[in-house]
Amino acid sequence: MSKARSTFVNCPICARWAPYGICPDHGVIQAPEEVALAEGFKECSKCGLRKPLESFSKNSRTLDGHQGQCKSCRAAYDKSWANRPVVREANLRNMRDTNNARYANDPAFREMTLARKRKQNPEAAK
Ligand SMILES: [Zn+2]
Ligand SMILES: [Zn+2]
Repeated sequence: MSKARSTFVNCPICARWAPYGICPDHGVIQAPEEVALAEGFKECSKCGLRKPLESFSKNSRTLDGHQGQCKSCRAAYDKSWANRPVVREANLRNMRDTNNARYANDPAFREMTLARKRKQNPEAAK
């Protein structure tokens, strides 16, 4: 069995926050998720179902090396409205508008943006 790595653990006895899997009252505990993980299962953060690790895409940035959402939830999201090009484009536009407004009104933000541009492209900024 692998050691509990997650720091997001609640004590299964008193349900209190147990940092690094150690409850102040009940000592070292292992969260149910950790048990599942040790057995090769993982709970999807979206649908909440416990599925075998193969049902999750790999992600080296997470603690257990897998995505928080299972493949079918990811696939559903990819097909959802939020990810359609037209919506993505609108979101991008929104972000640009917000940034442009900030750029015009916030000298610190302007300086930061310019500094980043200079860093990215020293030639063009000359
Ligand atoms: Zn406890
Ligand atoms: Zn899911």
